[in-house]
Amino acid sequence: MKKHNYSAGPCILAQEVFEKAAQAVLDYNNSGLSILEISHRSKDFVAIIEQARALVLELLKLDPKEYTALFLSGGASHQFMMVPYNLMQTSGKAAYLDSGTWANGAIKEAAFFGETVVVGSSKDQNYNYIPKGYTVPEAVDYFHCTSNNTIYGTQMKEFPAAKVPVVCDMSSDIFSRVLDFSKFDLIYAGAQKNLGPAGTTLVVIKNRILGKSTRAIPSILDYEKQIKAQSMYNTPAVFAIYTSLLTLQWLKKQGGIAAIEKINNQKAELLYHEIDRNPLFEGTVRPEDRSTMNATFLLRNMAHAPIFEALCEAAGISGIKGHRSVGGYRASMYNALPIASVLVLVAVMQELESKV
Ligand code: PMP
Repeated sequence: MKKHNYSAGPCILAQEVFEKAAQAVLDYNNSGLSILEISHRSKDFVAIIEQARALVLELLKLDPKEYTALFLSGGASHQFMMVPYNLMQTSGKAAYLDSGTWANGAIKEAAFFGETVVVGSSKDQNYNYIPKGYTVPEAVDYFHCTSNNTIYGTQMKEFPAAKVPVVCDMSSDIFSRVLDFSKFDLIYAGAQKNLGPAGTTLVVIKNRILGKSTRAIPSILDYEKQIKAQSMYNTPAVFAIYTSLLTLQWLKKQGGIAAIEKINNQKAELLYHEIDRNPLFEGTVRPEDRSTMNATFLLRNMAHAPIFEALCEAAGISGIKGHRSVGGYRASMYNALPIASVLVLVAVMQELESKV
């Protein structure tokens, strides 16, 4: 039986994507070769990565003359370092919003390169809200924020006006909601949530922000060199990129980001409604900052945990435990999670209520 997979990432992808990816492992496009054994310089793979890069910009509604999409290796964490390496001047400064564990990771890495100015933080309340009311200083090389906090379950609904380049870690909500993506100068996202398997990271860059730093950058970490090499400075993650292309094609077929956003909102409303209604549960973050991707909640009485977890297991619900650093429960409802899975979870929460 296919599980209802609430895992925070790697996570569920569309069933159609799993099937096509599996077929390509056996025989890519009737070529007599597996996707795993073709050269990254082959005509077939060059076509795959070019289509994927173009489709990213098309779905985000970004002008290909202004922006470039890259599929790099090393995970989103790698970008914590690549961003300052490329964008921070020697003895420069960058502004960061501290809204959770991953934002904090980005701040720590940037400190290797220059001064970090933390413009706002929600650490005082264990990151249960998005800091607001801050201003982004002008005398910094860029501003960095994290659109969705995968661990704490908060999501930025608004982004500050800034006169400096805006960099955003969208690892856990890219392609899930309509934003004016042209307001961002650099977006990055590990593939393993709304895009594909782990192994590649999407980076979307506004070309004109590059080339401003005087810092010497090792080639593999240099965005300009990666752009020049068409995202193939070294062997890219062929299978992860192919699977990402399948997801992008699937998303386009669903009607793109606007269409999936409607379903994501329905899923989130269903679950948060039950969290608020059911006396056994409570949400962990401020309602106005709740994430549509990762819903975090607690049982008011931990004595109910074994029954709740047994009911979840019997219903085929997987991956619902909170991050090891915070505990509780976290239901990750990425693009590919069907609404039917949310109905099953809500039914289990109601069943618990009727049993205890
Ligand atoms: N940023 C965010 C928002 C994340 O959720 C994660 C991983 N869950 C990361 C960064 C780190 O990604 P990676 O493991 O690909 O380095």
